[in-house]
Formats: sequence, C-alpha cells, structure tokens
Amino acid sequence: MEENSYAHSLTGWSSVAVHGGHRQDPNYAHQVPIYASSTYVYDTAEQGMRRFSGEEEGFIYSRWGNPTIREAEEKITALETFGLNLQSKAILHSSGMAAITTLILSNLKSGDRILSHYSLYGGTEELVNKVLPAFGITPVIADLRDLNATEDILRKEKGIKMMYLETPANPTIQCVDLESLTSLAKRYGLVTACDNTFATPFLQQPFRYDTDFIIHSTTKFLNGHGTAIGGVIIGKDMEFMQTKCTKTHRLLGGNSNPFDAFLLIQGMKTLEIRMERHCTNAMEVARFLEGHPGVAKVNYTGLDSHPDRSVAKKQMRHPGGMLSFELRGGLQGGIDFMNKLKMCIRTVSLGTCDTLLSHPASMTHYSVPKEQREKYGITDGLIRMNVGIENAPDILNDLQQALE
Ligand code: PLP
Repeated sequence: MEENSYAHSLTGWSSVAVHGGHRQDPNYAHQVPIYASSTYVYDTAEQGMRRFSGEEEGFIYSRWGNPTIREAEEKITALETFGLNLQSKAILHSSGMAAITTLILSNLKSGDRILSHYSLYGGTEELVNKVLPAFGITPVIADLRDLNATEDILRKEKGIKMMYLETPANPTIQCVDLESLTSLAKRYGLVTACDNTFATPFLQQPFRYDTDFIIHSTTKFLNGHGTAIGGVIIGKDMEFMQTKCTKTHRLLGGNSNPFDAFLLIQGMKTLEIRMERHCTNAMEVARFLEGHPGVAKVNYTGLDSHPDRSVAKKQMRHPGGMLSFELRGGLQGGIDFMNKLKMCIRTVSLGTCDTLLSHPASMTHYSVPKEQREKYGITDGLIRMNVGIENAPDILNDLQQALE
C-alpha cells in the first residue's frame, strides 16, 4: 500500500485531516478496511526472514502493527506536525493511560524523577504518585505556572529527567506555558511531554514549542463520538520512536485494535469543524454562566477572569470546548443541578458531540477526602462541562432550567 504523497502538499488543515495518512487499499476500498487479522502471512520462509530482520517492510503481527492502525497513526502525525516541516512518529495504544505508561517506561528508569504540574488528569496523577514510586520513579509536583519556582526546583532537586505537562488541565482548565517550560527543561537536560487531549492539534501544537513528546487520550475529541477508548504517543526523535519506544510498546502490549482505529480515523476527519463549534458554544456557555447568580466562578480561558488567559491565547488558536464552574449551592447544589439536566448528559469523559457534565465531588472524586480534592481545585460545587456541538440555545436552555 503506497502512501498518498500528494497529501503532504495539502495546505488546508481539514484537507490534511481528511486525506492525511491514507493509502490506496490493494482492493481499491474507498475507506481503509478494518483489518481484523491477528497475524500476516509470508509467500516464503525467506520473506518471513526479511520481514523479521527489517530488510523488507510488511506486517508481522497485529500487536506490532496493523494497516488500519497505521492509517490512524499517520493521520495523527500529519495533524500534529501540520505546517511545521518536521517528521514525527505516532504509536496508537489501547487507551490514553497505556500511551502514558509507554512514554514513561521508555524514557525513565529507577532513580529518575518526573516533574509535573499539580493539576493533572486523575489517572495520570495516580500513576505518577502511587504506581511509579514502587518502580523507583518518583514524582516532583509543583505549580509550573510559576517559572522562577520551577527553575529553583530544577536547580536544587537531583534526578529530574522528565517534565510532564498537561495544558489545558483537568478539571481547573489551568494552562502552563509550553514555550517557556520547554526551553527551561532543555537547559536542564530534561525531556518534555505534553498531554494535548483537551486542546487537540487543531487548537494547539506542542511541537511548535519543541516539546519532545505529545500524548492524547484519543477517546476524547479526536474520536469525537464517544465510541472507543484509545491513546497515542507521538515523538519527533525518529530513532527513539522506532527503537526504544516501539520496543516498549510492543512488549507492554497496550496496542490498539483495528476497529477502534477505524472509528478514530472517521472522527479525526471532522475535527476542525467540530472544534470550531465546540469553541463558539463554549464561549457562549461561559458568558451565560458568568452572568448567572447561582454560579460563583467560571473556569474558561476565553474569559478575562481566567488567570491563564494570556498563556492560552499565546499557544492556542481558540480557548477550547472544556470549562468548569462552581455552583453556589455546594455539594447538594451540585447534585440537584446534575439531576435536573434534561438534554445534557450526566457522565464522565469529554470530547463528544453531545454536551457532557460531571460533578467530580459526587462522582469521580467521591472517595477523595474533601481537603485533598480542594487542593486540586475540586470544590463541592464544581461542575466540569464538555460543551457539545448542539445548537447553543438548546444547551443554554437546559442549563437555565437546571440552575433554577
Ligand atoms: N489525559 C487526559 C487529559 C484525560 O482526560 C484522560 C482521560 O480522561 C486521559 C489522559 C486518560 O485517557 P484514557 O481514559 O483514554 O486512558
């Protein structure tokens, strides 16, 4: 299957989203088929030998690679490097967490430390704080929005090898400065990784700031329809990606599957138009909530009131489709509000066409002690919202009646 080389010369973002990564199918299928095959055959034993030695390109075993999965990977790299004139390689995983695990285990070893901002996706935070220390990899958690304090840490603390960023971050929508932090990290010899799940490559390209790795939970905006779990690691050090990272991925076994990859490919084709609608709707919702007497605070980087607005403006095309807000009624206020929703959906996760709301204090963080969750900005009345692509008045009407 030959790569469509013309796709490299396309100048529009959506053109690349639609055509990038596509190869002509040998049977002339229009869409890449779901290659539901665990293994691949060789014409001769010698051909098998050439494939295993790397002398001849070709698939061997689907944990190692698969034509449907390859198309998804190549589309993602085309989007993350759009307009940047650099090469990168993506490795699709069974989940965002699997991709983060491969990232960390292929880069760090016992005795190494990982520096991260305190507002992070809960799963990443638990991996870093609870699982990795048993393997000798320990966390340093700080407020990375304070660049002087971050440099102090790098000067004083020994063994920090990776700076792990997530921006905008869960659930506070805090943003860290990719350009300043990446250049600081380089001065101290750290590799950098950025979880770009909330922004997507349409809104933010971490490679523009020389970040070494990008992570996505493809479960979210890239898939866009809530139909599959997935994750990806993208790196621009081709040698590292093709050797150590590929090896770690293959041996940990967190590979994706062709059906989920197929769904992801379809989702990515419409990413630009979906993100534009997510963003315009989110701005309307944020303004509505800010003016509502039942709402104490709105966290959205499109509002002047957000402390990280200037950082978001510098590195993101639009402020995004995610926001959070605090209800005045505390825990019971949050529960009552969630129960009254009619069109918007009560659930965790994000990035889907439909508007999703979650109340961390009664849902994802129910078992976390109040003082601990408040340290991460998860107050009793905090509601996290994925603003969907429905017509804005319908979203506003539902919020209005639930807030009454
Ligand atoms: N990163 C972020 C920002 C997330 O929100 C999530 C999941 O919600 C993950 C990573 C983990 O992804 P997954 O659930 O696909 O493993």
